[in-house]
Amino acid sequence: MLGELLSKEECAGCRLCCSFHRYDLMDTPTVTADTAVKIVSRHLPEQKFLETGGSFLMKMEPEPDGETYFCPLLDHRRGCIMGDSKPFECRIWPLRVMRREDRLVIALSPLCPVINLKPIEEVKAKCGELAETILQEAAACPELAKPFAAGHRVLYEITAPKG
Ligand code: SF4
Repeated sequence: MLGELLSKEECAGCRLCCSFHRYDLMDTPTVTADTAVKIVSRHLPEQKFLETGGSFLMKMEPEPDGETYFCPLLDHRRGCIMGDSKPFECRIWPLRVMRREDRLVIALSPLCPVINLKPIEEVKAKCGELAETILQEAAACPELAKPFAAGHRVLYEITAPKG
């Protein structure tokens, strides 16, 4: 969804967003029930999930260092094996929908080494184009909205209703 800002080649050379430290496991992609069915039926029949509210997180096995986890859907040569059907959070990353106090915001992760070098006005414009879609997805799957974390740059904030 961010193709104009982030090319497939740039993502293929990085894949940082498909690996996790053991402290970040709650930041692994939220998977809806439909996506979980697709993962098991088309890609990884043995995949197990943890239920979180109405959605799921994928169980992941640690690397030999005991600290690093790679997403089970990551092919280290070809990238994500789900292609364009990957979980919604992965399709919009490094944009993230987050809950800050009682509001939803769309924020830019500080971790993406590519998009953080692009002009912020271009990133904000793209965020504005996608905001409605992102917020509709978050309304349908509230677990998509993660707690706000320091270092994220808020690009879009839902205005609280007046009165
Ligand atoms: S689902 Fe695909 S894009 Fe998302 S973290 Fe896993 S390998 Fe990466």
